[in-house]
Amino acid sequence: MKKILQDLSFSELENLILSLGEKKFRARQLYDGLMQGKKISAINISARLRETLLNDYEDEPVKIIQTLTSSDGTEKYLFSLADGNIIEGVFMKYKYGNTQCVSTQVGCRMGCKFCASTLGGLVRNLSSGEILSQALIVNALHAGGNRRGVTNVVLMGSGEPLDNYENVLAFLKNVSAEGGIGISPRNISLSTCGLVPKIYALADEGLPVNMTVSLHQITDEGRARTMPIAKKYPIAEILKACEYYFDKTGRRYIFEYSLIKGENADKAHAEGLVKLLKGRPCHVNLIRLNAVEERSLKPVTDKEAYAFLSVLEKGGLSATVRRSMGSDIAGACGQLRAGYLKDS
Ligand code: SAH
Repeated sequence: MKKILQDLSFSELENLILSLGEKKFRARQLYDGLMQGKKISAINISARLRETLLNDYEDEPVKIIQTLTSSDGTEKYLFSLADGNIIEGVFMKYKYGNTQCVSTQVGCRMGCKFCASTLGGLVRNLSSGEILSQALIVNALHAGGNRRGVTNVVLMGSGEPLDNYENVLAFLKNVSAEGGIGISPRNISLSTCGLVPKIYALADEGLPVNMTVSLHQITDEGRARTMPIAKKYPIAEILKACEYYFDKTGRRYIFEYSLIKGENADKAHAEGLVKLLKGRPCHVNLIRLNAVEERSLKPVTDKEAYAFLSVLEKGGLSATVRRSMGSDIAGACGQLRAGYLKDS
């Protein structure tokens, strides 16, 4: 595989351009083109520079190979990478802006029982430029005239972002850099299954992105039934790390809780969640399980989800049931890719 130009920050790109004996202003031309989601071969630079770059760098590291459009405006994409691997992403329209959900790894090694991304294990990490390119090309599809492109990014596609820490960190810096696509860290949410040491590390980086932790249970034993990582990092350690994150960044943290019938969705679980989280600067996002064909776990009904919510609210927690977007166009969390790989 060739190298990926989108991995570079502006100053790294400037150094590259100077090392190739080119004038400094070429770096800005090139960077602006890349940030507009263009292929190298479509950027207005000298033919000589283009040729030199194309010898070493991928013209188009991430390509959309399939788009599904929902009646609510949600779009799901299958992307192909230069080595033929497939990842997926989602673009969702909200009143406040447009959110792009990006993948951070091909597959995942965390092994959560409800999640399709992990079915084939981890294939490889994405480079920062491969993560960034997902946002760049989807932004280019939607931005223009008075139409807004990508205003928010969530790292909730395939992969565990904190298991690919260095590349994800470079991505967070590049996607929020001024003069680039410029997405404020406050408009970025990183979702993790709870890799505690990396939550501390990210807190110390000075990038106030929103920390979202997949909790899904109220006890370590219960959590370990569906999330193997629970054996390594207990809930008490996760809560401590989240407090540290809050102290460092001033950002309220978020817990995701996917409701699974007979597993974590009874009234007693809701009451336990209140006990666990009451008084903390956090929000709970209830998710309705997207049943994965290969797994036997079952979702709850909408009525049950709202009954669970009402216990949380009565207990004084800030909580919402996440709106189901694009439910008419194939599942979430790796299901599109899993379906594609099965058919091909
Ligand atoms: N690896 C990160 C990002 C995962 S995707 C993490 O674990 O947080 C974002 C969220 O969707 C996580 O909370 C994940 O646990 C949840 N999720 C995965 N598969 C799901 C499914 N089939 N139904 C509902 N939620 C699911």
